[in-house]
Amino acid sequence: MTPFLDLKAFNQRFEVEFQNSLRQFLDSGYYILGNQVKLFEANFARYCGAAHCIGVGNGLDALRLILEGYKILGRLNENDEVLVASNTYIATILAIKQAGLKPVLVEADLKNYNFDLEALKNSISQKTKAIMPVHLYGQLSPMEEILQISKEKKLLVIEDAAQAHGAKNKIGKYAGNLGDAAGFSFYPTKNLGALGDGGAVTTNDDALAEVISKLRNYGTSTKYVNELLGFNSRLDELQAAFLNIKLPTLDADNEIRREIAKKYISKIKNDKIALPYYDGSKNHVFHLFVIRVENRNRFIDHLDRNGIGHLIHYPIPPHKQQALSEFSHLSFPNAEKIHNEIISIPISPVMTEQEVDGVISVLNSY
Ligand SMILES: *Cc1c(COP(=O)(O)O)cnc(C)c1O
Repeated sequence: MTPFLDLKAFNQRFEVEFQNSLRQFLDSGYYILGNQVKLFEANFARYCGAAHCIGVGNGLDALRLILEGYKILGRLNENDEVLVASNTYIATILAIKQAGLKPVLVEADLKNYNFDLEALKNSISQKTKAIMPVHLYGQLSPMEEILQISKEKKLLVIEDAAQAHGAKNKIGKYAGNLGDAAGFSFYPTKNLGALGDGGAVTTNDDALAEVISKLRNYGTSTKYVNELLGFNSRLDELQAAFLNIKLPTLDADNEIRREIAKKYISKIKNDKIALPYYDGSKNHVFHLFVIRVENRNRFIDHLDRNGIGHLIHYPIPPHKQQALSEFSHLSFPNAEKIHNEIISIPISPVMTEQEVDGVISVLNSY
């Protein structure tokens, strides 16, 4: 049996250090926005190459607080339009809606599961004020093209980097340092995952960083002095301590994911399976290895019979979700095809070579 993701084994590698930091945490008697959060913010900003990192409660809040921050700074206003790929995880769209802005869904590209760039250009109106590229499955969005478009049209670029910790572009710039601001999630299954919820914003914008560091903590910078209508969305002190332990292993873990992906791509040979596009660079951290298959239900039976774990990211496109019925009249043939055909197979830094070979032979025998 090869599980989709063995999270326990994934974290067991750090258990001694986790125990030590739990002991230090208990000894400190300091539980909220303490030294571990400060240390993680410094560590993760340096890792991404960004001037600032602000720890927040989760990835959804990271994205929302960026938008709320830009509203306070006057860069965004109620009902401004924000472009987002129609095949993203629902969080990106919820963040836009919760901030009082208007998500404009854009058709997806079948090759990299990101924006169809022609559709992106055609979706820009007078009211468009921002683009939110999602580095879906761990692969960077086509940022050069997106930044070119944003420069011409004077749009903000806000990365949803929740699946792409450690992905870098051709000149070695990391996700989180490729636009005006970026939102990260440290949900346990992410490439850099906490043992609970967590998130962060990275940015080079001093004013935005200052506003978000207030917004996450009741709009204060001094205790009980409320300058802004704030939120309660702080990165937890203990989760920050765990993240400080795990961050130094992120690059090596991502390298293992890429090695497994390369092996899958070179050894899986089956006309019924469409493998993901990968240029062999570090612009992909393979948060997920997503393939497309004809007759997905039959494929799932085959995996189940052979003990290979699987998940679908995601089975229903956002515009077909009941919660987003306002978009149900729209049609995105590529996004719909993606959601009908995709399935994710196991990939993680704790898979054994035998497990990887087993997945390959099961896929080749479908
Ligand atoms: C996980 C994820 C989020 C949200 O993160 P949470 O920490 O669960 O709120 C946002 N966007 C994408 C693409 C994600 O994968």
